[in-house]
Amino acid sequence: MPLPSGMLSVRILPLIAALAIASHANAQETPSQRSEVTAAAQRLDAKITAWRRDFHAHPELSNREERTSAKVVEHLRALGLEPVTMARHGVVAIITGGKPGPKIALRADMDALPVTEQTGLPFASKATSTYRGENVGVMHACGHDAHTGILMGVAEALVAMKDELPGSVMLIFQPAEEGAPPPEEGGAALMLKEGLFKDFKPEAVFGLHVFSSVQAGQIAVRGGPLMAASDRFAIKVSGRQTHGSAPWNGIDPIVAAADLIGTAQTIVSRRTNIARLPAVVTFGAIKGGIRYNIIPDDVEMVGTIRTFDPAMRQQVFADLRNVAAHTAAAHGATAQTDIYENDGNPPTVNDPALTARMLPSLQAVVGKDNVYEPPLQMGSEDFSLYALEVPSLFFFVGSTGKGIDPATAPSNHSPKFLLDESSLDIGFRSLLQVTLDYLHGAAP
Ligand SMILES: [Zn+2]
Ligand SMILES: [Zn+2]
Repeated sequence: MPLPSGMLSVRILPLIAALAIASHANAQETPSQRSEVTAAAQRLDAKITAWRRDFHAHPELSNREERTSAKVVEHLRALGLEPVTMARHGVVAIITGGKPGPKIALRADMDALPVTEQTGLPFASKATSTYRGENVGVMHACGHDAHTGILMGVAEALVAMKDELPGSVMLIFQPAEEGAPPPEEGGAALMLKEGLFKDFKPEAVFGLHVFSSVQAGQIAVRGGPLMAASDRFAIKVSGRQTHGSAPWNGIDPIVAAADLIGTAQTIVSRRTNIARLPAVVTFGAIKGGIRYNIIPDDVEMVGTIRTFDPAMRQQVFADLRNVAAHTAAAHGATAQTDIYENDGNPPTVNDPALTARMLPSLQAVVGKDNVYEPPLQMGSEDFSLYALEVPSLFFFVGSTGKGIDPATAPSNHSPKFLLDESSLDIGFRSLLQVTLDYLHGAAP
């Protein structure tokens, strides 16, 4: 989950999804947790914690998850499963239940980040690696260690009840969620490209994320858009180099670029229907010129676009290209705009009907009052790519311990991101409850 700072945006709640959740929830009593989930949690909690701490102490960067992947394979084999590897270090296995029923998939991500840990935990990472040519610390600063441990636990629980299981469950241990180092491919995109769903097409995919903005003990979920699409762009403004004392002899790309950045602010403020869904256009770097008295040939800029639905995404792309081309033209310059849509993530959109259907399962685990609808998140997730193929549900499990304010707690990606380990138990129970309720045909 690549998260920008200031990720909580509370502008809009998609009304339909909100109503779907509300009406369904009100129509039902708070369901109770399945007894087999309670029993499995008691049996596996210590194991899950040990796995998570081991992964935490040995984090690996995106597309470098060799050790993690090997541990997962070893565990799945010990359970009698036949894991296959794909997309470099991805691991996939299928649990075939003894009874007929639906096919679903559960996804956990496994990669860590180039962050030097500052939590002071006894099992804190001391790992280092190379990232973009630099020696960096490596840390599970996004909590994917928890996700991997939780799914290993769910795998063990499901195998133990395999004979009674109505349907099949695909376990997806995914590498490189944070993005493969360029020019490598990776993550959900590569899993799908290599045919993840070719022979086993699930009818639903479930995933979770531990999240510092949610208090431990709570689950945050919403139908419809949940997390933003994230798209990187680059704009090159070209003028004509000349002496800084005589700008009329050249074409100044610096003034054109400044004007372009200013005008680009109107894409969101004047042209995007932010009453419907929010959007962001951010310029993150600008580079042009070398000396105080030379007007350079070019200025290069890079930035990110965040949107929540495909039409708005394309509209912002078109507006940015227009602003760049015409603002540059007004200065006699030219602009080349590249938007790297294929490297980006689409918005993470929860299937509203599936969300409404599974809400009682989540409530069963933490209680009705502890499941709430979070604001839209400007961060993105490559889980979104599965959701494009199959109705999906992604939810947040609170990871900020009691007594710490989630609003000010170190966020995911911070060197001080501190996971309250009660979130392992809740993540495990919620994923298992959702799985069993779905397979057993929880009231649609
Ligand atoms: Zn992340
Ligand atoms: Zn993440």
